[in-house]
Amino acid sequence: MNRILIGIFLISLGLGSYGQNIYWGDEVPEKWNGEWAEQYLTKAEITKYESTSSFSDVQEFVNLLRWNSEFVHIENMFTTPRGKSGFAVVLSNPRVTSPKEARESGKPVIYLQGDIHPPEAEGKEALLMVMRDILMGDKRYLLDNQILIICPDFNPDGTDDLHLNHGTPHLIGSGRNAQGKNLNRDAIKLETPEVIGLNNRILNRWDPILFFDAHAMSRVKHGYAIGYATHTLPTANPVTREYVWNDLFPKVRSNIRDNFHIETFTHCMWDEAYWPPTEWSHHLGYWFMEGKFVAMAYGLRNRMTVLVETPGHPSFERRIYAQYAYINELLEYTNRHGDEMMQICHKADKELVERVKAKAESGMLKNFVDGKYESYGQIELLAYKESVAEYEPGTSVLRTKPGTAEGPPERVKGVEHIAKPVGTKEANMPRGYILPECLGFLTDKLKIHDVKVEVLKEAITVSGEEYVIDKMKHIQWMGFTLTRLDGQFAKSKKKTFPAGSYLIDMAQPSANMAFYCLEPETPDGFLGWGLIDEYLESIGVNDRSVVYPVYKYFKIVTGDE
Ligand SMILES: [Zn+2]
Repeated sequence: MNRILIGIFLISLGLGSYGQNIYWGDEVPEKWNGEWAEQYLTKAEITKYESTSSFSDVQEFVNLLRWNSEFVHIENMFTTPRGKSGFAVVLSNPRVTSPKEARESGKPVIYLQGDIHPPEAEGKEALLMVMRDILMGDKRYLLDNQILIICPDFNPDGTDDLHLNHGTPHLIGSGRNAQGKNLNRDAIKLETPEVIGLNNRILNRWDPILFFDAHAMSRVKHGYAIGYATHTLPTANPVTREYVWNDLFPKVRSNIRDNFHIETFTHCMWDEAYWPPTEWSHHLGYWFMEGKFVAMAYGLRNRMTVLVETPGHPSFERRIYAQYAYINELLEYTNRHGDEMMQICHKADKELVERVKAKAESGMLKNFVDGKYESYGQIELLAYKESVAEYEPGTSVLRTKPGTAEGPPERVKGVEHIAKPVGTKEANMPRGYILPECLGFLTDKLKIHDVKVEVLKEAITVSGEEYVIDKMKHIQWMGFTLTRLDGQFAKSKKKTFPAGSYLIDMAQPSANMAFYCLEPETPDGFLGWGLIDEYLESIGVNDRSVVYPVYKYFKIVTGDE
C-alpha cells in the first residue's frame, strides 16, 4: 500500500491518537445490540429506529421479560394524572420482592430511569435492551453483587403525548407530564405524582446508593457520544460526588472507550457563538446548582447520582447506542464496586448525624446555601466547528449535513473545565428547625424527602436564630418565578413554641435535605419555589419587616434554664 492508501485506511478506521477505532457521528458497530428472536425486539429495533416505544409497548416488553424470568419483581410507583400505572422493574438474583429482603441480602441497590423527558427517548430504549441482556442474554452476572431497579418510562403520560418530529424517531412524546409540568424541575417542590411516587415508593423504601437519570440535549457541536454529570449542590456532603467524579467517572469513561469505542466526557457546553471554545462549563450545559433536578436533589441525601445527556444531532440509533454503552459500563462498575459505594454512603449518613450532635448546639456548625463553578484546570476538548441540520433530499427528515459533525472532531487544547462546585455563601446549620402548625403542608413535603418530623406534644422553649425579612422579591429564571428575600439572621432570645408545632431534629441522615428546603437563602428551597409567599403576605411582608416562619434552634432550654 502506498502512503495515501494507508492514510485512507487509517481514516476509515477512525484511528486517532487514542490508538484504536472510535466511532464518531452516527456510526455504530454492526449488530451492537445482539441477535434476538423477533418477540424480544424492542419497538425501536423492529422499526429500524424510526419509532420509540409507547408506554404500552414498554409494559408489553417488560411483561414478556417478567413471564420468562425468575429474577423480576414489579414495583408500582405512581398513578399518572391520566390514570396510568407507572412502575419500576426490580431485577435481582435471587429475586427479592421487598425493601426488607433487599436489605437482608446485603447488596447495594442501584436505580436507573429513562424518559423523564420523553422527547429524549434513547435512555428508555437502552434500558429495555439492558434488561433483556441481563434476564435473557449473557449479562446475568450483573446481578451477582447488586440489585437493580429500572424504571424505563418515568413519564408515561408524556411518552404517549405524541407529536411529529423532523428527525428520528418520527413521533416523539412531550417533555411535560399531563399536568403540564416538567418532572425534572419538581425534585424539591414535589407537585407531581411521578416525583412524589419516586420518593415514596423507591428512594425512601429501597434506598438506592446510586441514582441514574437518562437525558438528551438539543443540537450541539461537541464531539462526545454522551456527557455525564453528578450532583454539585455545595449543601450536599461532598464525599459522594467526589467519589463519582474521581473514581467512577474516569473508570467508566475509559472502559467505554475500550469496549464500546466511543468518546464520552462531562456534561458541559461552551458558548457556541464563539470559536474556538475557551470554557467547557456545567453552567453553559444548564447543569445549574439547583435542587430542582432529581439527580441533584438526591445528592442531598448522601447518595451518588449520575445524569447523562446524549447530543441531539446524531441519529436515534446512535443515541441509543451511546446510552446503552454508558449504562452497561456503569453497571459493570457498580457490580464490582457497589460494596465500597454503599459504605461511603452509609458513612456519610453517620458522620452527618455525629457532626450535628457534636457541633450544632454551639451555633458554629456551617453549611453552604449557595455556590458556583470553578475550573478543574485545562483540558483538550473534542468539538466540531460546524454542526448543520438539513433535510434529507426529497424528504422531510432532518439529518446532520454531511461534512459537519461527523468523523473525528477537532481537538481544542487549553479549554478551562468549569465544573468544580465550590460553596460561596454559608449559613448556620441549626440543631433543629421549628415550624408553626399552619405550615404543616411544608412538613408533608419534608416527609416525602425522607426527613423525620415530630409534632410537639407539649410546649418547648428554645434559643437560636431567626431570619428577619426586609423585603420579598420575585425573579424570573428559566421559565419560573422564584422568590428572593432581602434580610439577615439575628440571634433570638428564648422563644416558646406551643404543642402542635413541628420540630425537625437535624441529627438525621436527611439533615442536608432539610437544610436546603428550609433555609431562606438557598436558590430553590421551599422559599425559592414560592411555597411560603402566601404565609408571608398574610403577615404583612409587603408592608413591613417580618420574621421568616422557620425558627432555627441551637439549644432546647425547656426544663433546665
Ligand atoms: Zn432532559
